[in-house]
Amino acid sequence: MTAPRVQYQTSDEVDFVIIGSGAAGGILAKELSTNGFRVVVLEQGPYLHESDFSHDELKILQEDLLTNHPKLQPNTFRKTPDEKAKPQRALVYGRAVGGTSNHFTANFWRFHEIDFIERSKVGPIPVPRSAIGHHLRDLEPYYTKVEWEVGVSGLAGASPFDPPRSKPYPMPPLPVKSNGVLFERAARKLGLNPFPAPMAILSQPRAGRSACINCGFCSASAVKSKQNPVPSHP
Ligand SMILES: Cc1cc2nc3c(=O)[nH]c(=O)nc-3n(C[C@H](O)[C@H](O)[C@H](O)COP(=O)(O)OP(=O)(O)OC[C@H]3O[C@@H](n4cnc5c(N)ncnc54)[C@H](O)[C@@H]3O)c2cc1C
Repeated sequence: MTAPRVQYQTSDEVDFVIIGSGAAGGILAKELSTNGFRVVVLEQGPYLHESDFSHDELKILQEDLLTNHPKLQPNTFRKTPDEKAKPQRALVYGRAVGGTSNHFTANFWRFHEIDFIERSKVGPIPVPRSAIGHHLRDLEPYYTKVEWEVGVSGLAGASPFDPPRSKPYPMPPLPVKSNGVLFERAARKLGLNPFPAPMAILSQPRAGRSACINCGFCSASAVKSKQNPVPSHP
């Protein structure tokens, strides 16, 4: 369920101000606001409508139609703290309400059990690394909640390496495209086990959102089948 959208005055007091409306900020804003907090999200990019998207690969990939522009939102980069930071394209992100989820490919994987217990199984490694510090069973209910809210398409149990799950995916996998058919055939010949990737793209219509049209250019999809943390993306 989504809380009704509220517009606050600059003089209003709120509980949280979130900078950026991507997968992290957008979902946090939704969870906080539906739990009764007063939340303001500040987003530097525009609110895009379906008609603002184009399937023009040059505009999207070369002219930064959906992403940060190197001149307007420059990144600077240095290899050591003593160097002077120079402008360099270090990061590409979606610059719009909904953030990079406007531009991502929407593969929607879960971590495997081993990812949480690498040190116990494989032993310590010499370079310092951050530890996740949890077990898959701690996260499993949240993976399931997100998959069902977002509408992830996939085939539970199709991968022999799939970790245990409490619920199947909410809808069947997307159809395999012609290059995928060839890939599957070749992988099977090699004795491998190809399976459809879980995707945050609807294979069936759901709650006012249309199903994927299988255009093959997910990085610029304007069809509401693709997950976006802004719930009523018009
Ligand atoms: C081409 C591409 C394909 C990808 N494919 C996949 C995939 O298939 N599967 C997967 O899991 N991940 C994929 N990713 C990665 C994934 O999309 C990102 O990790 C994720 O969307 C990041 O979410 P976020 O909320 O951390 O940041 P973002 O979604 O980048 O959100 C940051 C937001 O903050 C805004 N912002 C930044 N600075 C300011 C400021 N000063 N003031 C106001 N607003 C500001 C930005 O405009 C942006 O909207 C892909 C990424 C790219 C670029």
